[in-house]
Amino acid sequence: MSITLEHRIKITNERASRMKENDTFFYLKSVEELNGARAQIDGREMIVFASYNYLGLISHPKVREAAKRAIDKYGTGAAGVRFLAGTTDAHIELEKKIAQFKNTEDALTFSSGYVTNLAAITTLCQRGDLVIMDKLDHASIIDGCLLSGANHRSFLHNNMPSLENILAQSENYQHKLIVVDAVYSMDGDIANLPEISHLAKKYNALLMVDEAHSIGVIGKTGHGIEEHFGLENAVDIHMGTLSKTIPSIGGYLAGKKDLINFLKLTARPFIFSASLPPVAVAAAKACFEVIENEPELIEQLQKNINQFRDGLQKMGYDTGYSETAIVPIMVGEEERTLELCKKVNEDGIFICPILFPAVPKGTNRLRAHVLASHTSEDIEQALQIFEQAGKSLGII
Ligand SMILES: *Cc1c(COP(=O)(O)O)cnc(C)c1O
Repeated sequence: MSITLEHRIKITNERASRMKENDTFFYLKSVEELNGARAQIDGREMIVFASYNYLGLISHPKVREAAKRAIDKYGTGAAGVRFLAGTTDAHIELEKKIAQFKNTEDALTFSSGYVTNLAAITTLCQRGDLVIMDKLDHASIIDGCLLSGANHRSFLHNNMPSLENILAQSENYQHKLIVVDAVYSMDGDIANLPEISHLAKKYNALLMVDEAHSIGVIGKTGHGIEEHFGLENAVDIHMGTLSKTIPSIGGYLAGKKDLINFLKLTARPFIFSASLPPVAVAAAKACFEVIENEPELIEQLQKNINQFRDGLQKMGYDTGYSETAIVPIMVGEEERTLELCKKVNEDGIFICPILFPAVPKGTNRLRAHVLASHTSEDIEQALQIFEQAGKSLGII
């Protein structure tokens, strides 16, 4: 028998109330002002380690300018679905830019990254097909599988024998789709693309990669996972969001012309949901241009990542297999995770805890996002705060 709705409401609200009483509810904070790596939260200035604004593009003058121009030209919304009256020249230009940036034939945008994954998987897979996922894939990929009606299996995280084992047992499926995150959103490690792509080809599966946290972060010039590994044509379906390094809203799929056209004509989340506001689209396009014109931002981000992660590791913190701007600070037990979070927040670090069930049981952690706009002093100050807090709680 399933538990009742009344019970689910009660236990959820009680858990949140308990956390609020203990001053350990770190969610839904109201950010009053965001200036690069600093923010005003509850009237206090804090160093931000909780934002996806990896390259600091939120406040980039070229991006703001593009958004203002779009408001003047189009107003606030497209007032329609893309398929009917909601496509503007700004949408077409952004999609061209994404295709060029990702070195693909064509691209299509959707109203969020979450919806993009739903659209891709529910349109490309149906009952009788198989979706193969990494165990740590993003929730939107799992939800896409469930909604598609296809069978789905997951392999152990970034474990290639486990992936091959599933592929070898799945020869009977005519259509197989492998979906992985390029950079894992809770762990900051990078998918083993060379091997995954090799296995996809060997077993005749399509490969889709979610680049939410890799665009603008990995690859020498920020073009993502293929650039990082020096590969071309390793991925069939490139997915990304316009909500992280690209601080706007939306998501995209990029790939072969026929495939993108098929999505345009049949993806239900594309056809039955309103178009992105042109202002969001114009801002996103400007961001891709800034990434290409200012590669020094990516270099700065990489420097900051190394300073922060190496500093934490030297103190004895466990940062898992992170190689990117996402640096998990592993604690384990929930209560200790919340205590650490409380201490560092009191000392001026804005960072959030990631708890079960968002991550596997017993792997509770704080998740830090390093930004290009952190100064070396910001990072040094944060490291000192983490050192003090970690020592006083016996975590390091
Ligand atoms: C954030 C994220 C998404 C969802 O993107 P939104 O634009 O926030 O809807 C999808 N996949 C991954 C891996 C993500 O980290």
